[in-house]
Amino acid sequence: MRKNFVFGLWSLVFCLSIVGCATRTQTGAGVGALAGAGLGAIIGHQSGHAGEGAAIGAGAGVLTGGLIGHHMDKKDCPVCGRKFSRSKNNCPYDGAELVDQE
Ligand SMILES: [Zn+2]
Repeated sequence: MRKNFVFGLWSLVFCLSIVGCATRTQTGAGVGALAGAGLGAIIGHQSGHAGEGAAIGAGAGVLTGGLIGHHMDKKDCPVCGRKFSRSKNNCPYDGAELVDQE
């Protein structure tokens, strides 16, 4: 049962890493999941529960990675400093061209 869960999680991670190019949020989640799973496996291995540790690490990684990716999905207005989603190209307040957040 636990093996199936871990396998399902890795499938999810794999899917995210393939289609992750679509948005930075998904890329962030995929990267976070991989990093989290790796870290979790190491932690779990040392406590004798590698699969469990990887699953927990991957779950936590998806959450934190998704947050990082979501943060990268914003654009800044260089004039007023407001932040907008990447779907906008110009600031609705002053019309300035939005720039990618670094
Ligand atoms: Zn503005």
